[in-house]
Amino acid sequence: MNPRAFDEIHNILLIQGDGQDAQSVRDALANSSDRAFRVEWVKSCALGLERLAAQPLHDRDGPNAISAILVDLMLPDLAGLGSVDRLVTAAPQIPIIVLCSMQDELVAKEAIQRGAQDYLLKEHLNNYLLPKTLAGVIERASITEALFDERERAQVTLNSIGDAVISTDVEGRISYMNSVAERLTGWPLKEASGRPLEEVFKIIDAEMRTTIANPTAKATEENATVGLPPTCILIRRDGEESAIEDSFAPIHNRRGHITGAVMVFHDVSTARALTLKLAYMAQHDTLTDLPNRSLLNDRLGQAIGEAQRHHSALALLYLDLDRFKLINDSLGHLVGDHLLQSVALRLRECVRTTDTVSRLGGDEFVILLSEVAHEQDAAHCADKLLEAFRNPFALGDHELHVTASIGIVVHPGDGTAVETLLQNADSAMYEAKKHGRNNYQFYRADLNWTAGEQQALENGLRHAIARQELELYYQPIMSLSTGAIDGVEALVRWQHPTLGLVLPDQFISIAEESGLIVPIGQWVLREACRQAKAWHDAGLPRLRLAVNVSAVELRSKEYVAGVAGMLAQTGFDPRCLELELTETFLMQDSKSTAVVFGAIKELGVQLTLDDFGTGYSSLSYMRRFPIDTLKVDRSFVRDLTMDASDASVVSAVINMGRSLNMRVVAEGVEALDQLVFLKEHGCSEAQGYYFSRPLKAPDFAVWMSQNNVTNDSRAVNRAGRNCSGTRSVRAPSGIHPRAAFLPPVIAPKMRGSQ
Ligand code: C2E
Ligand code: MG
Ligand code: MG
Repeated sequence: MNPRAFDEIHNILLIQGDGQDAQSVRDALANSSDRAFRVEWVKSCALGLERLAAQPLHDRDGPNAISAILVDLMLPDLAGLGSVDRLVTAAPQIPIIVLCSMQDELVAKEAIQRGAQDYLLKEHLNNYLLPKTLAGVIERASITEALFDERERAQVTLNSIGDAVISTDVEGRISYMNSVAERLTGWPLKEASGRPLEEVFKIIDAEMRTTIANPTAKATEENATVGLPPTCILIRRDGEESAIEDSFAPIHNRRGHITGAVMVFHDVSTARALTLKLAYMAQHDTLTDLPNRSLLNDRLGQAIGEAQRHHSALALLYLDLDRFKLINDSLGHLVGDHLLQSVALRLRECVRTTDTVSRLGGDEFVILLSEVAHEQDAAHCADKLLEAFRNPFALGDHELHVTASIGIVVHPGDGTAVETLLQNADSAMYEAKKHGRNNYQFYRADLNWTAGEQQALENGLRHAIARQELELYYQPIMSLSTGAIDGVEALVRWQHPTLGLVLPDQFISIAEESGLIVPIGQWVLREACRQAKAWHDAGLPRLRLAVNVSAVELRSKEYVAGVAGMLAQTGFDPRCLELELTETFLMQDSKSTAVVFGAIKELGVQLTLDDFGTGYSSLSYMRRFPIDTLKVDRSFVRDLTMDASDASVVSAVINMGRSLNMRVVAEGVEALDQLVFLKEHGCSEAQGYYFSRPLKAPDFAVWMSQNNVTNDSRAVNRAGRNCSGTRSVRAPSGIHPRAAFLPPVIAPKMRGSQ
């Protein structure tokens, strides 16, 4: 507020018992040259108080408002300081000047201590001093009033804004806090005042949980406004936390020196929580709360970067529920949604916290294993995931048996970019569906072959025999009781003119679909028999020869006659031949299967059930067929020593095989501990990289001679069988005879074997 202008007329309340003295005052003021005063004279303190009571406190500017009081110390109704006390109480805002005689001057000084503004000696009253003194006190009162107003206004403003305000002195001690600051810090101003800022205003970094240094020091040091880190958290006196955003600015005095700092801040907890929630929602699937495609892409990108820096591997498992659409369509979307939520929970339990289980949408989940030492880790995880579906899902009234198909890619072998890895994992998952669902498949390059490429491959395959592009590789089958070679399996490969070596998994299905498997199978059988005979003729032992046969071949009417013709043609002993077929053939038509099997057995040829455990046949069912050997699928052997359920499957197969008088061969043996397990559980034979990879015919002959296998007279034929390996291998006694003379274990490799 502006001080009252001095061209106005000021009302002066004169409280004076003596008429002459009163007149002197009037005279002195009447003759004042530049100020206008109107004197209201009352004779006693009581009348003075009465007059003041008539003027409302807030009426400071009205025409009758009293601007100052002149009061004689010796009033008729009240002598001394009593009158001053009463007037100060009655009108604290109106300045008071005490009039006294010279001998009362000491009392007048005391009056000033009690609230009067000044005193004048009656002897000195004149038209200069009185108006000047009055004008002075009126002006000072007016300024004080204005300052009070200003302060009041500031105080009200600071308390009404939403922001918290704290000011400190130059040493960082609190000098002011508004009510919001009191609430947010939990400190009332009265208690906080004078305390160091750090004590009242405790702030930490939300992420690191470390104390943030006092920002006022920085503001005063740099003489500039300073902001706080964006993730700042204020700890209230009772320990409650709130996210705040704020800034600090130094305060300067008139000479420009810093006298402290003022800090303005506000609670952004709600806004920050909302931002976090929005960010979370943008990266998570609302149904299952799993990371969505966007977050998976981020994490996969990061994991690829990490893997490249540390030369490590990562794996991606693309999981799709089998026949989910059927559940959705028949039981409704609500059941479908609940199933997806339950699946999400089970999947999460199968992986480490550092791995990511995400949902891409629908019934597609992708699991990122950010660090795998080996492909086997991914396979092991896939096994665990499939196992997680073993128990049915109880959803309300429904008990659902659900399975899943999984495609696996490994970085960097199967791709180095996010999109490529996802695409290839998807292709591998489709391959798993093709393999009858409820299984997993690793990605192979041929999975992404287009229809045109497949066609080109089929055309190429048509000429492969004539162009002599097919070749056989041989892998030894070892006896676990003697440690000697017992047999050999012939495995076909296609030396493609442009693609290089193509493995059977990549072309057998094309050959089956196109019927080309029949001439290919004939070629394999002829070539294998010819080679085995040649080895024998050259002095190498007469080994059992295992040849793989496709169900498509067996279905052809001339098959058995073809085998008989081939044996006659090559002169190969039928008792040494073993045909390997998979469970799928058994499943098809048990009557005609029994007929074909009977005819094969009549030739003296033996039958082996390959990849046992991956199909659906039970051992009791198998009793009906004249099967000589069971080959435990390599997927069981692989995790034998890590997975209790695989171990129990393998030992059960060994026991049942024995009780049915069948030989049991474990395939895919890569490590000594697998071998030890198999031997301890009474498995009769084993085959795998641990002994040798499949080798070309000349290499296989070298391998046999290096391992000291010769056709010597100490050959011990197996009871009832005429064809077996000759045992002159000098193996030390012990559980793993081959370990003594074979090269160190070849690094296991699940794909690309030859
Ligand atoms: P299979 O008959 O079960 O043959 C064993 C497969 O396991 C072979 O793969 C062999 O290379 C691989 N293997 C052997 N030891 C290990 C090991 O220690 N670890 C691992 N990870 N793998 C091992 P290959 O040669 O790629 O053959 C794949 C499949 O193709 C064969 O499985 C068989 O079903 C089929 N096949 C091969 N040759 C012929 C053939 O002449 N005719 C027909 N119809 N199918 C064939
Ligand atoms: Mg086989
Ligand atoms: Mg097999």
